[in-house]
Amino acid sequence: MEEILVLAEHRQGQVRDITFEILTLANRLGIEREATVSVLLSCGGEAYPGEKELAASCDDLLVIGDEGLAHYNADHYLAVLERVLAERRPRFILMGHTSMGMDLAPSLAARLSIPLVTDCLEEEATSGGLQILRQMYGGKIQARISLKPSEQYLLTIRPGCFECRRGQGKSAHLKVLDSHDWTGLRGRRFLEYLETGPADVDIAEADILVSVGRGIGKPENIPLAQEFADAIGATLSCSRPVADEGWLPKSRQVGTSGKTVRPKVYIALGISGAYQHQAGMKNSGTIIAVNKDPQAPIFGFAHYGIIGDVMKVLPILKEKFA
Ligand code: FAD
Repeated sequence: MEEILVLAEHRQGQVRDITFEILTLANRLGIEREATVSVLLSCGGEAYPGEKELAASCDDLLVIGDEGLAHYNADHYLAVLERVLAERRPRFILMGHTSMGMDLAPSLAARLSIPLVTDCLEEEATSGGLQILRQMYGGKIQARISLKPSEQYLLTIRPGCFECRRGQGKSAHLKVLDSHDWTGLRGRRFLEYLETGPADVDIAEADILVSVGRGIGKPENIPLAQEFADAIGATLSCSRPVADEGWLPKSRQVGTSGKTVRPKVYIALGISGAYQHQAGMKNSGTIIAVNKDPQAPIFGFAHYGIIGDVMKVLPILKEKFA
């Protein structure tokens, strides 16, 4: 039987959302292809991060508990993955298109001599192989590409593209794999984990986003949007011009060169809806757009639209929603 293997990503004892997002995809592919879904959890010691949630989301939970794997280290992860993947030969190996996945996937693909597709937005297994949706030329085009048949594929998945469910109705067998012999392995060493500053909010984690675009007019108007966001328990995000102007930090930017988000509610204030922006937020639960131009592209995919001047609409929204 075919195997789809997902590499779990964890930090500070927490399995990251991306792992469960990939599992949503993996479990769907598993049903379509009648394949088993396994998770490889490399961690330090005997406390396995997210063990219960992972076991409830896959068929086989493979764990390697080893001090050398307590923190992400490309050299150590590569050594372990090379060994495990050579033994198991899963058909699909999936990991996040995160800093970890971007660091790991190319070297792993080269070592195993298997095809790698990065930053995948959607996959569809076909009898001949695999079709993948990804963006090209900085998000200008969406391409559906077919891969040549291969025995194995390595894919990195863009965060925010699939639903994050911590528990997917499964009950995995736990298998503890042998730890690794690190003798002779020299290279990178983990020194310390540095938290990002409090100013750097992770917009990808927010349930509600109030997002400002160039239509907000000037930086002096940002506090009004922030007040509205605070009043409804939302986080403030923005389009690229707002970040480029330095009105909000780059960490708040949504889109192809910013973050992909999937909040329950996305309120776009003065954002035109260019495809590079759309690509980063189109999977939001409910999209509400405020724009003075009825022809603005955002009205083509928003669930609710308000045509009007954002500075006049904002106080009304605050009164109604807060
Ligand atoms: P605009 O397109 O200028 O739209 C402003 C909107 O505000 C207009 O629709 C206007 O009608 C409306 N408006 C004006 N005044 C008011 C008012 N008073 N009340 C209500 N509405 C008003 N963009 C991103 O956002 N994220 C990215 O990650 C990103 N990456 C990119 C990567 C590349 C390689 C490239 C080439 C571009 C990228 N862009 C990105 C830029 C993208 O193409 C657009 O230029 C950008 O999204 C436009 O931002 P905006 O909607 O805020 O501004």
